[in-house]
Amino acid sequence: MIFDVLTLFPDIIEDYCEYSIMKRAKDAGVFELHTVNPRDFTLDKHKKVDDTPYGGGAGMVLAPQPYVDAYESIEKKEKSVTVMLSPQGEPLDETLVCDLAKNEQIIMLCGHYEGFDERIRDIIKPKEISIGDFVLTGGELPALCLIDAVSRKLDGTLGKIESAQEDSFSNGLLEYPQYTKPREYRGLKVPDVLLNGNHKEIAQFRLQQQITRTKLRRFDLYEEYIRNNGLKFD
Ligand code: SAM
Repeated sequence: MIFDVLTLFPDIIEDYCEYSIMKRAKDAGVFELHTVNPRDFTLDKHKKVDDTPYGGGAGMVLAPQPYVDAYESIEKKEKSVTVMLSPQGEPLDETLVCDLAKNEQIIMLCGHYEGFDERIRDIIKPKEISIGDFVLTGGELPALCLIDAVSRKLDGTLGKIESAQEDSFSNGLLEYPQYTKPREYRGLKVPDVLLNGNHKEIAQFRLQQQITRTKLRRFDLYEEYIRNNGLKFD
């Protein structure tokens, strides 16, 4: 997997991938990370990437030329998808993350200020993706959410110890509650069933916890799980 990120702030993207699981995966060659700064593609001597909006209004709009030229400088792989991080895009969820992970290359466009001149969309025709119904100052955090979530789906990112198989959403449910040592903390005990070594009972207990928790916290996911598994609503 190759991640190419168009950003005015490449350090934000690169620094994040210098820690923990992401660093190990990058160093092991599970993914390559490249950043391209549209500011390096400006044609004016002040390296200006934005300008005031036609028609008036607050803030600055990202000009098309530096973004389009920066985008066109990237070598495209056969299975490549171009994503524009945008609050107006399709919401990012587990299904979309798994679909994106099937590509060889994900090119990401991070906006800033008031966002992109519309012609950047018209020319590049990216898939627009949002990380939620709120507005951030820039596309770097959304791009990192996408890079991190997709990386977890790639072979070699997670060791057995960090396995994602039982993470929330992997079977359509939220994850069960987790406990570690000590057995008792401030009077709160680890459930006995987790200590008895009976793997079947532990699995049953955890699944029940997943269902209860999902029903309480995410009724939409619970309904879908019940329907998909041919179960009855209680
Ligand atoms: N004026 C734009 C609008 O109302 O749609 C918002 C621009 S926002 C301040 C600047 C940039 O941050 C966007 O171009 C986008 O790249 C990124 N961004 C902000 N919120 C986001 C979100 N929820 N999901 C994905 N990207 C987001």
